[in-house]
Amino acid sequence: MASEFELIARYFNRAAPQGLLGVGDDCALFPAPAGEEVATSIDLLLEGRHFFSDVDPRALGHKSLAVNLSDLAAMGARPIGCVLGLALPRLDEAWLAAFAQGFHDLAAAHGCPLIGGDTTRSAHDIAISVTVFGSVPAATALRRAGARAGDDIWVSGELGAADIAYRLLDGQHPADPPLLAATRAALEWPEPQVALGLALRGIAHAAIDISDGLLQDLGHILAASGVGACLWYASLPAAAALDGLAEPRRRQALLGGGDVYQLCFTAPAARRADVAQAARQAGVRVTRVGEITAGPGLAVRDAEGRPLAGLPRGFDHFPAA
Ligand SMILES: [Mg+2]
Repeated sequence: MASEFELIARYFNRAAPQGLLGVGDDCALFPAPAGEEVATSIDLLLEGRHFFSDVDPRALGHKSLAVNLSDLAAMGARPIGCVLGLALPRLDEAWLAAFAQGFHDLAAAHGCPLIGGDTTRSAHDIAISVTVFGSVPAATALRRAGARAGDDIWVSGELGAADIAYRLLDGQHPADPPLLAATRAALEWPEPQVALGLALRGIAHAAIDISDGLLQDLGHILAASGVGACLWYASLPAAAALDGLAEPRRRQALLGGGDVYQLCFTAPAARRADVAQAARQAGVRVTRVGEITAGPGLAVRDAEGRPLAGLPRGFDHFPAA
């Protein structure tokens, strides 16, 4: 039987691309492109808290990297490479092989090779920590603080499906196999919008990836930028699977649902054609869902312009204007 080190090496040691020093020395080395800044981000995923114990390990490998690539996307940064920390209660080779497959497939798709890592034995649960490195030309990163009054608010892709799947799997709603089948991929196989982030450099004023829910993440842009916003509820790009669901559940999924990993960004109204062009270039749908206001607060309005009451909990610090 292979030793622990041999097993880990088998699944995680890949030859680094030319110009990078990857796994196998004390540190990984990579060149930072001249005139560019290095963007870096870390995420920590814990079994039972961030993922279910019985999740498909290939999907878990994919998502562990996807959530980090999504942070690079939100900054308009181009991926360089990543490092992985893995704590496992036992060495299960089939699990490890599938996890590595999901991880490496996404890494290859985005030119973000695994260039270092560490593994250790844990007492009970799996813990996964990924750090990504990317690069972005100096002073062009999409930051949270750049939104200005009058900006359009845009969202990429669709909203709501991941939240529906999460709550079904968590037992918060009665089992509904067709609904789970229609929403599960959004939760387990998020696609980071790296190409869109790159295409939005020089166009978007501010951006964030939606990890904790649209209201909460847009709230971070508003707080950092010192502005408010009005969202048009009827314009939100709801996943088709939400059709016919009871309104409170739909509203929670659209406004409060996390694990979306789409981009929410603001751009001047004069740049609408450029935003549309960037979206076409990236091959992703974008939807204009509101506007940035000078006054503080985040209002969500229905099709008749009335403020929506009963917003998902956790946003009381942004009272409706
Ligand atoms: Mg983020």
